[in-house]
Amino acid sequence: KAAAIAGTELEDQTDELGDEIDAKAMLQRELQDQRKTLPVYKFKDELLKAIAEHQIIIVVGETGSGKTTQIPQYLHEAGYTANGRKIACTQPRRVAAISVAARVAQEMGVKLGHEVGYSIRFEDCTSEKTAVKYMTDGMLLREFLGEPDMASYGVVIVDEAHERSISTDILLGLVKDVARFRPDLKLLISSATLNAEKFSDFFDMAPVFKIPGRRYNVDIHYTVAPEADYVDAAVATVLQLHVTQPPGDILLFLTGQEEIETVEEILRRRTRGLGTKIAELVICPIYANLPTELQTKIFEPAPPDARKVVLATNIAETSLTIDGISYVVDPGFCKVKSYSPRTGTEVLLVQPISKASADQRAGRSGRTGPGKCFRLFTEHSYKEDMTDETVPEIQRSNLASVVLSLKALGINDLVSFDFVDPPASEGLLRALEDLFALGALNSRGELTKTGRRMAELPLDPMLAKAIVASERYGCSEEVLTIASMLSAGNAVFYRPKDRALIADAARQHFNAGSAGDHVALLNVYTEWERSGHSAQWCADHFVQPRTMRRARDVREQLEALLERVEIERRSCSGGDLDAVRKAITAGFFRNTAQRWRDGFYRTLKTWRTVFVHPSSGMARLDPRPRWVVYHELVETSNEYMRQVTELKPEWLLEVAPHYYQENNLDAPEPKKAKAHEQGAAVALEKPSPSLNDFFDV
Ligand code: ADP
Ligand code: MG
Repeated sequence: KAAAIAGTELEDQTDELGDEIDAKAMLQRELQDQRKTLPVYKFKDELLKAIAEHQIIIVVGETGSGKTTQIPQYLHEAGYTANGRKIACTQPRRVAAISVAARVAQEMGVKLGHEVGYSIRFEDCTSEKTAVKYMTDGMLLREFLGEPDMASYGVVIVDEAHERSISTDILLGLVKDVARFRPDLKLLISSATLNAEKFSDFFDMAPVFKIPGRRYNVDIHYTVAPEADYVDAAVATVLQLHVTQPPGDILLFLTGQEEIETVEEILRRRTRGLGTKIAELVICPIYANLPTELQTKIFEPAPPDARKVVLATNIAETSLTIDGISYVVDPGFCKVKSYSPRTGTEVLLVQPISKASADQRAGRSGRTGPGKCFRLFTEHSYKEDMTDETVPEIQRSNLASVVLSLKALGINDLVSFDFVDPPASEGLLRALEDLFALGALNSRGELTKTGRRMAELPLDPMLAKAIVASERYGCSEEVLTIASMLSAGNAVFYRPKDRALIADAARQHFNAGSAGDHVALLNVYTEWERSGHSAQWCADHFVQPRTMRRARDVREQLEALLERVEIERRSCSGGDLDAVRKAITAGFFRNTAQRWRDGFYRTLKTWRTVFVHPSSGMARLDPRPRWVVYHELVETSNEYMRQVTELKPEWLLEVAPHYYQENNLDAPEPKKAKAHEQGAAVALEKPSPSLNDFFDV
């Protein structure tokens, strides 16, 4: 009898297995059918023919036409990878690289990381087998440092070129050059309709291959008067659409994670009270830091009788295509990086989008049928206030990192580098000056040994310098940990509203001895390691396990790189924290401030009024240290220093003697700010490194 039961069980299991295989086969068939409905499919042969005939092609097509997911597959199927060379497809956004690679692996019926993989900073999901490699543009740039002829690749697709990220812009200049001496390399520049002519001109009149779009009419609605609070207006609009409009999903553009989380919470609260007559509203957030496993949710169709609302950052503008969107709600803002070469600060600011962006956003609603776009700004503001196009990132960023990479590639003459749009010379000069101050360049503008080591580390030059300097102070282990924590994201701690005080106290524990936030990060990591990566430990200390795991991954990769640049791994064994703080100062000596009157600080270099960020352990200290070094400035209503550590002014003379002189550092704490402000400002005027030495800029 027992055998009979076992037999039935076995049968059941085999049945289940059979069902599973059937389901898989069905899904595959469905996916293959879907592929054939994409606009690019009809042009497959024509496109392959054009690629065979030309070395460089500009591919233009509406978002969702299948450029990113299909073209690499076509090339793979057509034998472009048969010689063992890979296809690279670059994306400006991390999320897009992962999500698209996952989709393509699914379509090809392979495991992600095998034939299809992705590579982003600190995360390599590829293998020996990988033939189609999605990667961030920054990663390809990094690979370029080690492989200037791009020999592993037979095809390079610079995708989303219209986004004009810094790395994409630099890549365009580099691949243009490589294509000249590698006639076997195929180059595709792909863009969502904008800028095609510009790219074609840049690549010596390369042919433009247009994939005709399938775009339905989109009805555009404007608000009559400007909205005082676009978040409120957005919530109201979404709810109203949900209650009054026929089926179809909604896409709402917001500026960042925090805003998305706020709106998500409000929407959840407000829909709870809607009663059972109104359909369910499924809320799907998407932003860069959203855990990968949650990101796929935006692609899942809503259950029958329910409506999906996607709360997205700019990422849904062109990088990701979500099917089934009929309504777009566009407040008209996005967060952009903005840099002032004069003061050397880079801040993220919420700014009005460009006309081009607004049109792209509207277009998201007209992909599968007629759509509607609700703009939460006036028609007048669209016509009169918005710029035509977004300024390329290279013209509004700190270029130190880019210049360092270019120098490491042996490109010395930055002025003659082939930029699509050259950066302002003021910005280039500033970058050279910064790198000189960091000791990465000598006075002739040539890369030093320090600079070469810094360039190997995929970090901001200041952080890279702190690591290189840690060798001298015998604390590379500690600084490596701090750098990994800083790179793992800002969400180290969480603070549930109902237990805010307990969370604050738990956090304060890491600041014991008030050696500063950098050392606190070190303490968090060390204790987490000691706990055996315990989830309970994380919960007890209100620490985000995800951030910790990421920090560990980052650390492992940095360890390997340290070996490569031959920086000895040494620990000051928890004893000499001054050594750690000195190393940090060696990288961040530009980011220093002096306490002025109660509560605020003045930056040493630029004399800006800055505050200690409320999240800092220093925020609760009394009295606060007179001199501090900080990781970055965050601008909200005021400018806040994030990650703050006390320093001794004499360190500045030690770590940056060419940057600070003694008389810069002894401005007395004034009673009347105003008079002193001017006096001290003059005292701080110092001779800049002689820029005439800086050759051809
Ligand atoms: P393009 O690059 O031209 O904007 P894509 O190749 O990214 O177009 O997208 C083509 C289609 O593939 C989209 O319409 C969408 O249906 C599907 N798709 C893309 N990425 C995913 C994903 N991660 N999950 C599910 N479907 C996806
Ligand atoms: Mg795409």
